[in-house]
Amino acid sequence: MFRPSRAFSLLTCLFFFCFIFVSFLFSSEGNKIPVIKVKGNHYQVGYQIGTKMKKQLNGLLQQSKDYVAEKTDLKWEDIRAQAQLLLEYSRKHLPEYVEEIRGAADASGIDLVDLFSEMCEEIYAKNYLKGCSDLIASGDVSEDGSVIAAHNNDTSPSLEKYAVVVHYQVDGEPEILAVGYGGLAISIGYNSAGISLTGNELSMNDMKLGVPRLLLCRKILAARTIAEAIDASIFQPRASNYNMVLTDENGEIYSIEGSATDYEALYAEDGFLVHTNHYTSPRMRKYELDPYDITSSLVRYNRAYRLMKNNRGKISVEMMKKFLKDHVSRPKSLCRHGKYVKTTFSVIINLTEKAMYLARGNPCESEYYKYAF
Ligand SMILES: [Zn+2]
Repeated sequence: MFRPSRAFSLLTCLFFFCFIFVSFLFSSEGNKIPVIKVKGNHYQVGYQIGTKMKKQLNGLLQQSKDYVAEKTDLKWEDIRAQAQLLLEYSRKHLPEYVEEIRGAADASGIDLVDLFSEMCEEIYAKNYLKGCSDLIASGDVSEDGSVIAAHNNDTSPSLEKYAVVVHYQVDGEPEILAVGYGGLAISIGYNSAGISLTGNELSMNDMKLGVPRLLLCRKILAARTIAEAIDASIFQPRASNYNMVLTDENGEIYSIEGSATDYEALYAEDGFLVHTNHYTSPRMRKYELDPYDITSSLVRYNRAYRLMKNNRGKISVEMMKKFLKDHVSRPKSLCRHGKYVKTTFSVIINLTEKAMYLARGNPCESEYYKYAF
């Protein structure tokens, strides 16, 4: 017998569950950056990354091929020839991390030289996008004594969808939780030995052949002490460098302003440190590729410094979220909104808690999620 009231209640339930399902799909949880876990020796973890990230690695490579075809006078073979040179330096000086890329190449079916070219920012440009801001607080200036490293990662908007967290458990290394694009190009993170790496792009006039700077990031993240992290930042066979911001759980904070052939180790003497995308050390200024193209970096640096200085003793993870959403001088603001360069992920690492808070895209439009080992 047809029972309209029962049919009605079934329909109501159906609509209710559909509503919940659709709400879930479109909720900000859907915007959470995913985590992949990898474990074993270097080749094995690379193979696992290549298996899990095959689609994304192919997508990134295709983006690069399209960029070369549409925006440069180069042929893809020119890119491969340069990548091959940097690969030979890396094989000689950092073979363990080449093994990771070889594993990923084997698993994804992508040619090793093609895949390695994705690690070589040096072959695409000299004057980089001038992206990323760092604000680091030791326990001397935080509200509860925590050591907190905050970072906005600014890149081409096309990279945002490739952001991923890699949880490494590699034989002989501390556990690492790192963020980057496509699973191989990681540049930010922390490890179980209490070391974090954040950092900023610098454009230098002394680039040379050598190991690509992205491989230095991978080496830094395996450091067990702040001294080891500094050694990895100034690894001499490098082709270029970032400004590597290194922090340990004791609140030792260094900004290693590196070029390809030189560096200055800046220490957080007042218990906090900020950095953006220009050389601040008077001795390193001679390496600045274009001193007339650093206004975004200057205004973000000074804004970040003032926010930190005026809030000494009160800095917390919640306060760092507000700093990373700051819009003074928008679009060239800490929360970056440019057409060609924008914040594509935002991260706060609490080294005391050994946890990371991560948001996809601009933090003013996104939500932070907690990650830990
Ligand atoms: Zn914003």
